[in-house]
Amino acid sequence: MDSWNKPLNGMQSQIQLSGKRATCTTGPIAYATYMQTCLSHPTEGYYMNPTHAILGSKGDFITSPEISQVFGEIVAVWLLSQWMNFGRSRKIRLVELGPGRGTLMADILRVFSHFPAARSAVRDIHLVETSLALRKIQDEKLGPMTKANGWNCMWHDGLDDLSPDEAAFTMVLAHEFFDALPFHLLKKTEKGWHEILIASGPDPTTPQRLKASTSRDIASDNVDVSFETSPRFRQVLSETPNVVSHLLAASSSRFQKLPIGSHLEVSPAAYKVARKIGEILHSKKGGLGDVLGCALVVDYGGDHSFGSSFRAFKDHKIVDVFYRPGECDLTTNVDFAYLKDAIADLAITHGPLTQETFLTRMGLQLRVDALKKSASSEARKADIEAAAKRLIDPLGMGRQYQFLGITGTRNIQPTPEQCWPFIEDTSDHVAERDISKDSLKLITQVLAYPALTFSIISMSNNKKLIFVVGATGAQGLAVIDALLAPYPDGSPSPYSVRALTRDLGHRRAQLLASKGVECVQGSTDDLESVASAMEGAYGTWINTDGFTIGEQKEIYAGMRIFEIAKQVGSVRHYVWSSLDYALKLGNYNPKYRCEHYDGKARVAEWMKAQPSHDNEDDMAWSVVTSGPYMDMLYNLMFGPLNRRSDGTYVFAAPLGSGRVPMIALSDLGFFARYTFDHRSMTSGKELAIASQMVTLEDIASTFRQVTGNKAVAVDRSIDLWFDLFGGVDNPVANEKPVGGGSTTWKENFRGWWALWRDGMVQRDMDWIRSINPEGHTLESWMKEVNYDGQLQRSVLKNVEDSKTIVPIRELLVEL
Ligand code: SAH
Repeated sequence: MDSWNKPLNGMQSQIQLSGKRATCTTGPIAYATYMQTCLSHPTEGYYMNPTHAILGSKGDFITSPEISQVFGEIVAVWLLSQWMNFGRSRKIRLVELGPGRGTLMADILRVFSHFPAARSAVRDIHLVETSLALRKIQDEKLGPMTKANGWNCMWHDGLDDLSPDEAAFTMVLAHEFFDALPFHLLKKTEKGWHEILIASGPDPTTPQRLKASTSRDIASDNVDVSFETSPRFRQVLSETPNVVSHLLAASSSRFQKLPIGSHLEVSPAAYKVARKIGEILHSKKGGLGDVLGCALVVDYGGDHSFGSSFRAFKDHKIVDVFYRPGECDLTTNVDFAYLKDAIADLAITHGPLTQETFLTRMGLQLRVDALKKSASSEARKADIEAAAKRLIDPLGMGRQYQFLGITGTRNIQPTPEQCWPFIEDTSDHVAERDISKDSLKLITQVLAYPALTFSIISMSNNKKLIFVVGATGAQGLAVIDALLAPYPDGSPSPYSVRALTRDLGHRRAQLLASKGVECVQGSTDDLESVASAMEGAYGTWINTDGFTIGEQKEIYAGMRIFEIAKQVGSVRHYVWSSLDYALKLGNYNPKYRCEHYDGKARVAEWMKAQPSHDNEDDMAWSVVTSGPYMDMLYNLMFGPLNRRSDGTYVFAAPLGSGRVPMIALSDLGFFARYTFDHRSMTSGKELAIASQMVTLEDIASTFRQVTGNKAVAVDRSIDLWFDLFGGVDNPVANEKPVGGGSTTWKENFRGWWALWRDGMVQRDMDWIRSINPEGHTLESWMKEVNYDGQLQRSVLKNVEDSKTIVPIRELLVEL
């Protein structure tokens, strides 16, 4: 039996899972062991635990079949066209690997059941699924239909239970299956390929410990990533090439060509499964009637290898791959070329094609039009269209997912008609020219069938669309999560989100797309892009990036974006994310000037001179004024700058006895949602918010109390504090040249610290608590995030993108 379907295989004892704690018990382990244990441990594994929602809108990620049933219907049409081309006289054997909630199979079977010839040809359905919890869900979903039609449905631990069957036409499906298979991580050095392993505990040789893969670009290919490890685990490079690294690197000539320094994720499990699919479809005879079946593999990935695509998802967010082992979905991009290598001598592979091309060529629009005709309302029509668009969105799922087709046997070269839609030609006329008459007839017949009712779970068009500027920043991500969250009673959010982003390829933009956010390219430098992206929006959350553009541009952009919102016509609630007006609060004394606060605040002051209309035909505005994030305890501003040799954490800042209106990002999200939910109450108002007014001593004492560690608060003079960092004379607006109109980092933060130290900013905490009684305190925040005093790079985007000051380590250790 394959090792990939035997989750235990002695590995369980090498790594112990228990919620947040996991350790390697017998020395370093392979990534494959880690992944397999985390996903398939019999009791603690991610897929095995019945309490995990896993898939769908409530789970950790959402897949195409769950977005729109059109996806499964079109896959069904492709399978039927293959059967009609090659197997019509034979019974149908359907096989699905990793069926999840069974949605794809249910949609396929529903299509099959509408065609008498296909309905009577289906013989049995084989589901390869290791998780008993998911088997139960699949049984509930498929049971009624299979029983009503007299089809046999059975489950298997692995594909090895199945052998070639000449009496049947076998259809194999693997949707988001290969990405969950364990892989080995290799690195090429001068001496050859070495395996990178995982060891537990901190690295004794490096003082610096940062967070793991969240800062990697998930789409990057074979790049030499600098390794960052979590406190619990670290990566170790095996000293010499081992048998595994040697054999895996030799398993494809493509790998040999990679340059020294490359990383390579390679999955022998994926190779084995692909080969097994080939064996099931391979016919020793060579006639047209001897084709034993077809297969479709759909996954995130590409036609090449990857070096750093391993990532983890929890609650629709990308998290550290070592975060809560067993509670997160782990995934890698699929190397389709490797799957093709495995099958090459057994069957014919086609593609991969992008999901957009596959679905479009297979007649997605025909099906969508037919469904719209029979839709009961305009809103429903819009929903149907929106869900289909999401599947083929070239900036999202449409290009991220790839379809690999497998047909026939090695001996038969299918015609272009028989290969449809897997053909090279991409000219516009190809649809009419190459599509076979039979397939076209079938497609039209199936796709136009109005009785195939339509259901979608991601309805967007009857929702209020909120346009977000600053979506990929720490604040934006938190605000979007709050906007999309269901109400406490479980009823769905009334909002959908469109995000403006400079770089659609940025990891954070891809993360947003994975949550169903529509990402549109543009920037506040290009106000036309803002105007067109705002079309149709009901609301806005505008948080301009003063750290990039500086106060001068920020003021102008802020005023113009407001005017544009008025002009666009659809916007009913314009919300500006602001900060305190430092200079004004300090009675215009220049020592309080703070560029990244004042820029936003001046816009807010100007907005107060504009009308706010709380009616259905015009626009209301609100200002939400927040403050430093509690998450800045993970960086140099509020985090401990040193840990002394006796273990004492040193929180050093020029804060005196001043108070900072710190806010947890989740509370900021709460108030953003509150503002949109209460338009009348917040119209024309500024909401000055915080989670708690915090002193430096509060930080040290709360840390002591929550973690049991020793900690001290050190009040440091402002100049001595700046001495600890390099780069403080650079412009605070990082797109500006030195001397180019922006204040320096030092000037900016001198005003910022003075604002808190001199008590210039107050908050009405009674009002805040009355609105948000569940809001965080510093203590509850530290407990919730398990704050451990480790600095991280991945909270603030500018920090993650390395656009900020650098600490001088020799001085920090003196603190
Ligand atoms: N195809 C579904 C589910 C994808 S999740 C969809 O797209 O919605 C991955 C699925 O593969 C789950 O059902 C999981 O339990 C299953 N799976 C993961 N590893 C497996 C293995 N080694 N053997 C069998 N099933 C596995």
